[in-house]
Amino acid sequence: MTNTHLNIEAVSKSFGAVTALNNIDLKIERGSFVCLLGPSGCGKTTLLRIIAGFEKPTSGRLLLDGTDISEVAPHKRGFGMVFQSLALFPHMSVAQNIAYGLKLRKASALEQRERVEELLNVIELPHIADRAVSELSGGQRQRVAIARALAIQPKLFLLDEPLSALDAKLRDNMQIELRRLQQKFGVTTVLVTHDQTEAMMLADELVVLDHGIVQQAATPTEVYRTPANSLVADFIGAANLVHAEVDGEEKLKLFGQMLDLGNKFPSGTKVCAAVRAEDIELNRADMSGRGTGTIVFARDLGAFQEWLVSVDGQEIRVRGTTAIGPNFQAGDIVSLKADPARVSVFPAQ
Ligand code: ATP
Repeated sequence: MTNTHLNIEAVSKSFGAVTALNNIDLKIERGSFVCLLGPSGCGKTTLLRIIAGFEKPTSGRLLLDGTDISEVAPHKRGFGMVFQSLALFPHMSVAQNIAYGLKLRKASALEQRERVEELLNVIELPHIADRAVSELSGGQRQRVAIARALAIQPKLFLLDEPLSALDAKLRDNMQIELRRLQQKFGVTTVLVTHDQTEAMMLADELVVLDHGIVQQAATPTEVYRTPANSLVADFIGAANLVHAEVDGEEKLKLFGQMLDLGNKFPSGTKVCAAVRAEDIELNRADMSGRGTGTIVFARDLGAFQEWLVSVDGQEIRVRGTTAIGPNFQAGDIVSLKADPARVSVFPAQ
């Protein structure tokens, strides 16, 4: 059963001649974690700022639990926000920062103290309540900002690239913490990121934006396994896009291998096949030295190996674990085999 918390209805936003958002329709489920993902300039920050109330849509509206909030001022929406522009208050202690929203709402001193204590435990920093914000590390600050946003038990929790300033390891830990926190509080969350691994780690629903349009909104697995179009396939994961034409028998030649497309595309259709680096198998050339490609670049990334293989003038990225398969080097002649079930075929754009 669906339980829509926020309904984004036909929202468009233009800045002069630039269309940042083009007729966005999106239903956000209660308690879900939604990630807005897409390349730079796709409109994700604009959409988050519209949800927060910092921008007004040029057309369309926002319904929160069925009530139109399009005209409600940001501070009256009751949302918790972690935006780069909303830094912690430097002259206040950690506890004062976290309690700030509660104080504005005239919560009692006891209530403020209890809530701050609870949140400091949740973010695993119980000992830093009285510390000045300036004495905190980047990761600690980020956790305090998250606690401050959650203190008011927000109706929606909005985050704009909250982990982008952190180093890789801390970022990894924070992703797990953020997901746990969100589940603990059950708060409907919308987070903007351009990092697809982060989005896949956090989201119940991934919304891929490009050119101001929702290209796909689905679970991370669905987006990864069945991308809606070549833009999504290209953006999510290391996909290779191969342009080809469907032959007389409705088959597609991919790396010398014939893929049966059923009757999805008539003969002669120009198509684009997306196949991920990890869904291609490499084999040594046959006895006669024939193959479909030549390795032009090989590197060992520890957990897996990556190769660039020149095939019909195009460089195809292939990944495999070092535990299996031979140790290919630049110059090796190879044949490529794609798992047909893992190849997505779209009409050429
Ligand atoms: P990034 O990841 O680079 O932050 P984004 O996906 O968040 O990108 P937006 O910031 O939403 O993208 O911008 C979408 C489009 O709208 C861009 O073309 C941008 O230049 C334009 N835009 C955003 N804000 C304004 C503004 N205040 N004035 C004019 N143009 C704007």
